[in-house]
Amino acid sequence: MNDYDSQRIKNAIGIPQTNDPGKADIVIINTCAIREKADQKALSSLGKFKHLKKSNPNLIVGMTGCVAQLYGDKLLSKASHLDFVLGPRAIPKLAEIINDVEIERTRIVETSYDIEEPFEILPYHENEKVTSFLSIQQGCNKNCTYCIVPTVRGKEINRPLNDIMSEARYLVQKGVKEITLIGQTVNSWKNDGLKFADLLNIVGELESLERIRFTTSYPRDFTKKLINTMKTNPKVCSHIHLPVQSGSNEVLSKMKRTYTVEWYMEVVTRLKEEIADMAISSDIIVGFPGETRQDFEQTLKLVEEVEFDTCFSFKYSPRPGTPAASMTDFIDSETAGRRLSILHELQRKITCKKNEDRIDRIEQVLVEGKSKNDPSHLMGRTSQNRIVNFSSSDNLCGKLVNVKINNGFQNSLLGSIL
Ligand code: SF4
Repeated sequence: MNDYDSQRIKNAIGIPQTNDPGKADIVIINTCAIREKADQKALSSLGKFKHLKKSNPNLIVGMTGCVAQLYGDKLLSKASHLDFVLGPRAIPKLAEIINDVEIERTRIVETSYDIEEPFEILPYHENEKVTSFLSIQQGCNKNCTYCIVPTVRGKEINRPLNDIMSEARYLVQKGVKEITLIGQTVNSWKNDGLKFADLLNIVGELESLERIRFTTSYPRDFTKKLINTMKTNPKVCSHIHLPVQSGSNEVLSKMKRTYTVEWYMEVVTRLKEEIADMAISSDIIVGFPGETRQDFEQTLKLVEEVEFDTCFSFKYSPRPGTPAASMTDFIDSETAGRRLSILHELQRKITCKKNEDRIDRIEQVLVEGKSKNDPSHLMGRTSQNRIVNFSSSDNLCGKLVNVKINNGFQNSLLGSIL
């Protein structure tokens, strides 16, 4: 979501980018507040630009994103070199704000949720990109007790279908072959009597679009209709990111996740039964307030049972103003760290085993470009979202190719093109 917003910011400003802050006329720090570490990183990177402002008093320094929304005008009093603070919903106002700062030399805070056209301003799109995000939703109505998102991104707004389709058509015209629909709880999207499953089918009608992905899904909103669409629409990839957060019903209830472990397992079982070769990834929070050893063991049990293809797990991080931050039964950092290492190791083994199981199989790969580690190799992804590297001197960018897998590692597969 932040990456998508950063590209919108690029377009909203409409001037070329430089990688050298010393040459910049405007510096914008787009921030994330999801965990304390990201939040601190944002604040410390703000400090780095103080000396630039001293040597260039005309430099405009702004902070955008969730940290900007969270701290608002406090940031202006903290950092005298900061010119403006702008929340994630207010990106369409960015050009106007920069203009006001430049002409009137005023300092501005814009953190209102009440923006007329919150989806206005498309992201900057690099030519020849094979894959692209497309935002279909902003904000969230779920109020999980640990989460800062509803505070900083506001209530859920679903983007109208016409607006989504005009961006999708633009992307396809630009050569994009794979679109990832993004939203905080993407599968709860609805508009004018249409549900998320309908949207997948409508986007799937775009002729030269090869693949559709979506993230992040909320387990409780995962309907039979959606599973059926994933099964029947060949453009929808066989991968789902379905955050479970904990394997204990007690913890899930304290998190206000509104589903039980049994409910989650039922969705997973249905997905695996209905869709051949389905890949499932997840997010887990370890050391949530009150998490007992038994709770944690239930999480390990769930991970073993589901066998996630990948899983992003983190230590619980208290976020200001959230209900969980005022709970009193915090887990000490050492215990949470120990539990996190156990979970990481379990998941590492599962992921490696799953990737090794792909050896000798023929995978259909959408080629995205050169491999990061070896420019003589190309890199692409399978429908299950596995990264595949293979050697080729041809320009196959944007093509679907068949690759025989020769080796499986923790984060990728290595193969040879057929
Ligand atoms: S559903 Fe996701 S974004 Fe919404 S409150 Fe819960 S964790 Fe945060």
